[in-house]
Amino acid sequence: MDNKTNFEYLLSDLTALNGVGIKTTNLLKKKNINNIFDLLWKLPKAYTDRSLSTKVKDLKIGENQTVTVVANKYLFPRIRKLPNRVKCSDETGELDCVFFNSYEGYIKKILPLGKEITVSGKIGYFKNKYQITNPKYVSENSSLIKQVHNKYSLTEGISEKIYNKIIKQIIDKLPNLKEWHSSKILNKFNNINWNDAIKELHKHENIGKYKDHFYQRLAFDEIFATFLVNSEIRKKIKKVKKKNKIINLNKQKQLINKLEFTLTDDQIKSINEINEDLSSSTKMFRLLQGDVGSGKTIVSLLAAFNTINSGFQVAVMAPTEILARQHYNLAKKIFPSNISTELLSGKSSYKEKKLILNELINNKINIIFGTHAIFQKTVKFKKLGLIIIDEQHKFGVNQRKRLSDKGGNDCDVLLMTATPIPRTLTMTIYGDMDLSIIREKPKNRKMIKTYSKLESKIDDVIKFIKKEINSGNQIFWVCPLIEESKKLDHTSAIQKFEYLKKLFPKQVSILHGKTDINEKDEILKRFLNKEFKILVSTTIIEVGIDFPNANVIVIENANKFGLSQLHQLRGRVGRGEKEATCILMFKSNLSENAKKRINILKETNDGFVISEEDMKIRGFGDILGFKQSGVKNFKLADPIQNSDLFELAEKEIKRIELENENLSKFKPLIKLYDRADIINDIA
Ligand code: ADP
Ligand code: MG
Repeated sequence: MDNKTNFEYLLSDLTALNGVGIKTTNLLKKKNINNIFDLLWKLPKAYTDRSLSTKVKDLKIGENQTVTVVANKYLFPRIRKLPNRVKCSDETGELDCVFFNSYEGYIKKILPLGKEITVSGKIGYFKNKYQITNPKYVSENSSLIKQVHNKYSLTEGISEKIYNKIIKQIIDKLPNLKEWHSSKILNKFNNINWNDAIKELHKHENIGKYKDHFYQRLAFDEIFATFLVNSEIRKKIKKVKKKNKIINLNKQKQLINKLEFTLTDDQIKSINEINEDLSSSTKMFRLLQGDVGSGKTIVSLLAAFNTINSGFQVAVMAPTEILARQHYNLAKKIFPSNISTELLSGKSSYKEKKLILNELINNKINIIFGTHAIFQKTVKFKKLGLIIIDEQHKFGVNQRKRLSDKGGNDCDVLLMTATPIPRTLTMTIYGDMDLSIIREKPKNRKMIKTYSKLESKIDDVIKFIKKEINSGNQIFWVCPLIEESKKLDHTSAIQKFEYLKKLFPKQVSILHGKTDINEKDEILKRFLNKEFKILVSTTIIEVGIDFPNANVIVIENANKFGLSQLHQLRGRVGRGEKEATCILMFKSNLSENAKKRINILKETNDGFVISEEDMKIRGFGDILGFKQSGVKNFKLADPIQNSDLFELAEKEIKRIELENENLSKFKPLIKLYDRADIINDIA
């Protein structure tokens, strides 16, 4: 294969490289390095310069140095624990090479007597003599050693030497890809092409030069590739013509007037945006983003109501059954009784399910609630006009596209997420969707009082909780994963449960990773019905469920969580009228930095602000489990540091859309940056 022009070479299996066998390949695969392209982002972290050699008399103890010596004598003591030793020297002095755990045969091979050999390693000093212990670099050919050796964060089983070798090989064979960017864009990066940029990226002297053109260009490539794919998906969805819905504003108003609260401005704005989409002849594909407790549910139910009044059916999917049931109950409460509302539950009998399925296909049910089960093949609608999906930031772009296809041409899609994230990230993750944002919280919301407490002060916490329980309030007690082992995580929650049970007999229940799903539903229902007062759990408290009576949350080992996660956990309380409290527990005193972090939580309740701070600290892949969601981390780009590049990419995409530019030149970019499965038909 002519790899000089062919980008597909970069997607070859690693075994295409010389000296890389099945063993190394498998080790790399464990690190999610599956092809040559993936290895391009394995960058040197530091380097050791072994290019200069010294004489023995000039060696510096404690430094990595290179020296050429002659081996004079072997000392193999044949006593366990004593190392093998090779006495060496040059014309200026003596140096011992010391080997622990190396076979004599091997030592004799690499250090044959009487020959000039170059060795490199950290210089030690023992019994008045220089020595190198377990020298990594020993060769008769000094030029193999006398160079700069890059240091990599190592994968177990793969040495620095191997990395240096394979990465050098890849760089040497790098194909010259045809430029995909416009000259205007390229100009911003000093016209550096992709190939040269990669070469620069791997030079040891360029480590950490994030502001340089080569780095910026490569970061831009990543962002741009992502946005381009998003743009293509958007275009595809917008191409679908649908039968528009007719919004009955009178009926909408009647329903709004019946609510116990007044809608916030952001809620109204979101409803208007959604109505506009519903009544247009292109498909709606919209994300409703708003912090926990910002009141997304009512907005989505109004959209459902308007859709039903226009003669269509609606499907509402929630991540868990109990949340589906809560939405279902709310709908039954606020919708007029002529709207037929159903819940498709895992617990329904076969007969009940059959009846529901039958009524759905005959348009006798207007709106159905359920978990992902409502999207099974057996579930068919007569006239589905809107799909609403709650709390699903874990849907990847692929899943969303499939979903939008599934409802048929007349079906609009509304997704909801309580994950406030910075704009650069929203563009990246949800760039295929239109966006409505609820920033403002309902007026009656009080700030959740947030405190930090040392674990040794648990008695104070217990005292506080007693008081709260006596006033009829309920408490969440969260015990997160402490060790890497799930088992330990499990026991720590159980221990806390036992401890609290003694203090508050019959008032405590526990939920953990092993609680069976039916039992879990049962426990949550009983908590909701106030049948007990304290719910101990690992982190798995259902997102989205409204527990208006719970107003205290205790979070143990709070340092194990990121700020966004703490904020989301905290959002389980403070959804009603009551004063709410969040107690963050720590095993030991906080460092100044950690204090600063926690203060952000104490000072603001704005999830957007918190997530931005969190991202500055942790990088976006780690916040709120986006990593598990299949959302790819960028390799170089950083949504905070490179916000200018995100904006540039957005502008360029708009230009391309406007000028209807042919996309075939972007094919290598998209294929390499690995989103190709979504738009196989591009170009
Ligand atoms: P989320 O956005 O997290 O899904 P919910 O829709 O569950 O939030 O709303 C949280 C609580 O706030 C619910 O009890 C809901 O009835 C209430 N709520 C929603 N909108 C308002 C409002 N404008 N004023 C007062 N309370 C509201
Ligand atoms: Mg919700």
